[in-house]
Parts: sequence; C-alpha cells; structure tokens
Amino acid sequence: MREADVLVVGGGPAGLAAGLYAARARLGTILVEKGFPGGQAATTYRIENYPGFPEGISGPELTERMADQAKRLEVEFLTAEARALRPEGTRWVLETDGELLRGRAVIIATGARSKRLGIPGENRLTGKGVSYCATCDGALFRNRRVHVVGGGDSAVVEALFLARFAASVTLVHRRNELRATRVLQEEILRHPRVRVKWEAQVVEIEGEKRVEAVRLRYRDGREEREETDGVFVYVGYEPNTGWLGETFPLDERRYLITDARLRLPLPGALAAGDVRQKGLRQIVTAVADGAMAAVEAVDYLTVPGYAWRGVE
Ligand code: NAP
Repeated sequence: MREADVLVVGGGPAGLAAGLYAARARLGTILVEKGFPGGQAATTYRIENYPGFPEGISGPELTERMADQAKRLEVEFLTAEARALRPEGTRWVLETDGELLRGRAVIIATGARSKRLGIPGENRLTGKGVSYCATCDGALFRNRRVHVVGGGDSAVVEALFLARFAASVTLVHRRNELRATRVLQEEILRHPRVRVKWEAQVVEIEGEKRVEAVRLRYRDGREEREETDGVFVYVGYEPNTGWLGETFPLDERRYLITDARLRLPLPGALAAGDVRQKGLRQIVTAVADGAMAAVEAVDYLTVPGYAWRGVE
C-alpha cells in the first residue's frame, strides 16, 4: 500500500491548490484524479473573474498552469477513481479502482457534476446531440441550431460561447428572469444570434439516431415542438459525494458539512471546494478552500498538542 502524509482526492482547482500548499510544507502528497486535472474549470471556455487575468483566460490554460505548479513542487499525481475512504487507527485508507493508498490526513476535493434534467430522450441521446459541456462538444455544432437549458451563469456563459459558431442559439429558461450575473444578462439579451424562450421547460428530447427536436412546455400549459441539432444542459450541479457512503455528515443536497476551518468530524479529514456546503462556488473560492484545508492539515500533522474539533 502506498503511503503519504496527505492524500488529496480530486484534481480541480481546490485539489490542486491543496496539493500545492501541502507540498510547500514539505509533506509527502499524493493527488488522486480520475480524469485529467482541472475539474469543471478545465471545461470552461473563458474565465473572466479570476483575479490576475484582465483579458480573461481559458479554463484549460488556467488549470494546466495550476497542475504544472503543483507538479513542480513534487505533488505526486495518480490517475485513479476514488471508491471508498475509511479510518484505520490514526490513518485514512483510500480505496481506488487501482491501488489502496494510506494517508495521515485526507482532503476531499471531488467537486460537483452537472445535474440531469431527467426527461425522456436525455440519457438515450447523450453524446448524440445532448451535452453537458459546450467547451468539449461545441465545435461539432458549427452552423447548426442548438438549445441551451438553464438561466444561471453557466447556461449564459456557454450559450455565448456556442453563439460564436452555431447558426442559432435558443436559451430555454423556466422563469421570466435570468439568474445569471447582470453583465452576462446584458450580453446575452443583446446578442443577435441568441433568443430566449421564457417560462419554458424542455420536457422531452426527440430523435432517432441523433437529436432532432425538443418539446417545450410553457408555464401557461402551452406546448411547442422545435427542431434542433443539439441540447446543452446547464441546470446546476450536484456534489460528488456518493463514493463516501455514510462516513461523514451531508446536508440535504448531499454536500459535505465542514466547520469554518474545513474540518470534517473525524480527525485528519477535510473538505475543500464545490463538494462542501458553502455560499459561493467559484474557482477563486475553490482555491482558497484548497489552501485553507492544506494549512489546517499541516497544523494537524505538525503542531504538538493540536486538538481536532471538527463540526461544532
Ligand atoms: P445555478 O446558478 O444553480 O443555475 C441553475 C439554473 O438552472 C437556474 O437558472 C435554474 O432555474 C435552472 N434550473 C435548475 N433546475 C432546472 C430544471 N430541472 N429545469 C430547468 N431549469 C432548471 O447553476 P450554474 O449556472 O451552473 O452555476 C453554478 C455556480 O457556478 C454558481 O455559483 C455560478 O455563479 C457559478 N458560475 C459562475 C460563472 C461565472 O461567474 N462566470 C460561470 C459559471 C458558473 P431558476 O433560476 O429558476 O432556479
């Protein structure tokens, strides 16, 4: 079994920042990530609210730089999927789809994933016109018609991205007002190739081999069928906590509950980033979480007489 001082689970901005801070404290750090590092931020086309980049920066570039920085400090990256975590004496044992790892502290930074609409046609046509990642799949829709579902920052940012090359973008939102930040609202509402269907829900996605149409239902009960080539779903996120079972307390939406210093109730376990219950889920708060969790882990492992309090 491979041993480390600190195990970091998840390689998004929170996990990468945690790895950076733990490694700078000269603790042996293994970061476990199932895909490529960067998490959701790596699938974001343009990031304009991360300080230090007045012109904005692409998600892949920003997160690649974060990963390079962690690697330079000798954070060991392991490509594997976390399956379970259990305490063993004063250690934590992380079970992955490959090997078992043992750490003196563990920082859970497994983030969140896109929520599904849960409507007919969605699962069957995922990868055949239904997508949750415009940055990954958008280029396939050059000169095509696409529908984007949602009214938050993600839906609007990604609709603007798609509008760069799609023939038309239709944003479908269930209320008569967008949730997205004002500056984004202004941009989308004046975009010539974007129209918004207000007070409408996509209730079915139709198509034989690929997406062919969506069925919309308006608040007043009216229904409409619209032909389209792609459906991009941005209706929020849910935390990646299923793999943890009942080890730690979760809130009603299944986010991990930490104390203000990001500690979980059992000694040596912390959570950082989108996976935990918090007010603002942004890259800037994720990296802040990663740094705080790592510094707390360092104190736990190095300060004599440190008392673990956990959730109070
Ligand atoms: P969000 O803010 O939770 O918005 C989700 C949107 O989907 C809402 O408009 C919601 O409608 C709608 N929705 C939820 N369930 C639905 C359903 N079943 N059917 C139809 N519509 C549904 O999620 P998000 O936009 O993904 O953003 C998540 C977090 O990331 C936020 O904190 C956001 O600020 C942040 N983010 C920031 C940026 C940026 O700053 N540039 C970019 C991306 C994401 P209602 O409005 O009616 O609830």
